[in-house]
Amino acid sequence: GTGRKQYVIANWKMNKNIQETLEFLQQLKEGNGVEVVVCPPAPLLYPAKLYVQGQKKEIQIGAQNVHQEDKGAYTGETAASLLKEIGCSHCIIGHSERRQYAQEDDATVNQKAKQALKRGLTPVICIGETLEQKQQDQTEKVLTKQILGAMDGMDVSQVVFAYEPVWAIGTGESATAAEAQRIHGYIRSVLEYLDVQNAEKVSILYGGSVNENNAQEFASMTDIDGVLVGGASLQVDSFQKIIAVF
Ligand code: PEP
Repeated sequence: GTGRKQYVIANWKMNKNIQETLEFLQQLKEGNGVEVVVCPPAPLLYPAKLYVQGQKKEIQIGAQNVHQEDKGAYTGETAASLLKEIGCSHCIIGHSERRQYAQEDDATVNQKAKQALKRGLTPVICIGETLEQKQQDQTEKVLTKQILGAMDGMDVSQVVFAYEPVWAIGTGESATAAEAQRIHGYIRSVLEYLDVQNAEKVSILYGGSVNENNAQEFASMTDIDGVLVGGASLQVDSFQKIIAVF
């Protein structure tokens, strides 16, 4: 193996209620060496954490977003310190849906990642090109800008990356494993440019229409250190089968 941590992360987005969450967590088995992180909607983070803790299950709970400031007059936002206090281990940052619907840019992603780290949460930084950018052969250029923007003043060894091509998210049209491997190699080369010592240690996950049928192929690629799963993470059986191939 590569020695890198392997992750399977569930991004539930704005789905599931309390009962569905607890049932899912009851049925979900531990990862056996794979870091399993479930990211429910914000109000379900604490009950989810209490539940897995009570069951003594090695399942981590992650947030889907965090605010960049410590605290204060930010109505509707959640502080990193609070996420940490309730037991979150990770936080997804800069998901394409937040870049699209909440106008998050690379500078925001950088601030949020720094804030997460400051409070002891591991940032899972999402990057990826749109279909238009891909068609214009701008994938590498876009990713470089996103990575350098996100990592400004930061240490690469403290973060996790998720390559999520926007055209593959929720579309049923994943990247091919070979295509994803090539891009992950490129992402790692940009990380090497930033920090030649630590780039090899950074887990880079793939996300975008991963399911129980295609997960194995992604898992077989050297630079794919796990997956970030949306749709297929909502069914515990599918999610469990994805965990099993890493
Ligand atoms: C995501 O939103 O992070 C994602 C990968 O979604 P899906 O698996 O549904 O494409």
